Amino acid sequence: MNLADIPVDVLPGVGEQKKQDLSELGIESIADLLEYYPYRYEDYRLTDLTEASDGEKVTVQGRVYGQPSVRWYGKKKSRMTVKLDVNGIHIHVIWFNQAYLKDKLHAGNTIVISGKWERNRLQVTADRTLISEREQERHVGRLQPVYSVTSAVKMSWLRKLIYEAFVKYGGHIKEILPQELIQRYKLISRAKAMYLLHFPKGKEDGRQARRRMVYEELFLYELKMMWLKKVHRTEVKGVSHEFDMKQVKEFISGLAFPLTGAQKRVTREILQDLRAPAQMNRLLQGDVGSGKTVVAAIALYANYLSGYQGALMVPTEILADQHTASLAELLTPYGMKVVSLTGSMTAKERRDLLGQIQMGLADVVVGTHALIQEPVTFRRLGLVITDEQHRFGVKQRALLREKGEVPDVLFMTATPIPRTLAITVFGEMDVSTIDEMPAGRQPIDTYWVKKDMWPRIVQYIKKECTKGHQAYVICPLIEESEKLDLQNAQEVFEQLAVEMSPIRVGLLHGRMSATEKEEVMRLFAENEVQVLISTTVVEVGVNVPNATVMVVYDADRFGLAQLHQLRGRVGRGGGASSCILVADPKSEAGVERMRVMTETTDGFEISRRDLELRGPGDFLGVKQSGLPDFKVADLSEDFRVLEIARSDAAEVVNQPNFQSNPETQPLFEYLMKAELGATSFD
Ligand code: ADP
Ligand code: MG
Repeated sequence: MNLADIPVDVLPGVGEQKKQDLSELGIESIADLLEYYPYRYEDYRLTDLTEASDGEKVTVQGRVYGQPSVRWYGKKKSRMTVKLDVNGIHIHVIWFNQAYLKDKLHAGNTIVISGKWERNRLQVTADRTLISEREQERHVGRLQPVYSVTSAVKMSWLRKLIYEAFVKYGGHIKEILPQELIQRYKLISRAKAMYLLHFPKGKEDGRQARRRMVYEELFLYELKMMWLKKVHRTEVKGVSHEFDMKQVKEFISGLAFPLTGAQKRVTREILQDLRAPAQMNRLLQGDVGSGKTVVAAIALYANYLSGYQGALMVPTEILADQHTASLAELLTPYGMKVVSLTGSMTAKERRDLLGQIQMGLADVVVGTHALIQEPVTFRRLGLVITDEQHRFGVKQRALLREKGEVPDVLFMTATPIPRTLAITVFGEMDVSTIDEMPAGRQPIDTYWVKKDMWPRIVQYIKKECTKGHQAYVICPLIEESEKLDLQNAQEVFEQLAVEMSPIRVGLLHGRMSATEKEEVMRLFAENEVQVLISTTVVEVGVNVPNATVMVVYDADRFGLAQLHQLRGRVGRGGGASSCILVADPKSEAGVERMRVMTETTDGFEISRRDLELRGPGDFLGVKQSGLPDFKVADLSEDFRVLEIARSDAAEVVNQPNFQSNPETQPLFEYLMKAELGATSFD
């Protein structure tokens, strides 16, 4: 019997309407229902008042004596008291604004109340009251599960339904983990854990249940990853690129600089993947300015030598233009044609370009989302690279891999995350890391100043611009905001335009049209505009080497990764650069971020500190990272378990008899049923 195949309406009381209501909650089958876990519990276990300490939350059952007395304060506010005999201890119970209960509190009745215990006054302020016998029977002595419900699905009804489902089908919950692992970690069985997650008798029950399900959930997730990786390596036939290594080496020696050791290492890893028959599925991470673009160009060249077209995906038009220019500079001398496919082209331009791509006349296509949102047909697509993949949604990344036959895929990111975290979270991907900067980079001097220094900063920008340099001024917001006392880009722009004259000032923000943005960026890149006031649209990848000053206003409003990205816009060859963080942080965390930024310019160190400050869950931003929404596990708490689960999963998948061993058979069946798709991101 497979509980996932049994619809919920087999249960009594679930008709057509209720079936639909449950479906709104994502509950279709008995399995869904049993796995619809509560997000908290209400504790109705009775407290022994002789042992309760002052201020503790207590639940007691007692007999009403005397009459309730109500005092009114105006029409709405009231205070009601009644005396309650709790096993011989006489206490006062107080209710605020619940005078409607008065008629139900008869002397001699037994009631249950919860609330804060004031030991000296023998008094409880009630926040929960159970009057009827039936209610008391149902709740008292238990931890009641609290589910997320809708107006159509009532809490008490859902509780009962889940309970009934357990009575009827609980016996059919099958164990999925191998005994070996259950014993190794002393886990309780799957059926028991699922039941106790709904109906724990005490804290320890809940803890054991959670421990078991967290492990199972993370183990199954990692099992999928490890399986994908294995299948990928052995079964998914990608392009076996064939190219002459000598020509690639010539290309590398033709560059204006020698590669760093790290660049050489990752280039080797990528070229190996290109040659191998399996599909490349690799993440290339490296700090801003560590030279990922050159590595991408080498890969695109090797891909071209083997007779294939390549695609480079970027998140914004500005980046598309810049990458097109820098790749063209590197690749055109070798006979390659680099084209750019963006959303702001005219219909005719687009049609012409699509034709060229289809006929194989374009060797490298650089594009924004437009490239994947609408059908683009390549003659022979052999390599897809995405830059700043964090900006791409899960779906887009998946789509990308499905384009063409099975092109090799390289994801590039300048948001470095610590290696152990990367290999755990990026699941089935291989990870290459550039952890070394090109020689001769001048470190960017970073200062943190208070807002009252603003006039002096303005003078400083002016001085730098007079020397022929350029500056960025970043503000979190575009327009005036009433709630937040934040400097906004529009205002700063207007102010600086006056104060800086004759130095020219430009404004860039996300609400401008693509054409407007491009125009401003072009002016800045050509030094027609010296100071660029901007919201964070310049964050990723933008390259204007002549810019040497980065001012971030209200810097404490930004996260560390973002600040690091922003700082990376300067120090790109134009001489000594500086980054000025203007902030009066209101929180300790804000102060800490400013401190980290002034202490180090190493992206990996910053991400390590960021991870420390925020914990893995927050750090990764689960939604963005491509990790699934786990039902029980919480990565900010359970990250260690994820790591353990990963190595256990690898061990299991790589057992030679994994598919035939009865112990691991349920896991294999699970994998066969799981929606693996072409990607790990779902
Ligand atoms: P990333 O994309 O990783 O941020 P880029 O590829 O844009 O970095 O490189 C940043 C700058 O450093 C570019 O101007 C590039 O030409 C230069 N560069 C890249 N590799 C090296 C190297 N090995 N030595 C010197 N300069 C380099
Ligand atoms: Mg780059």
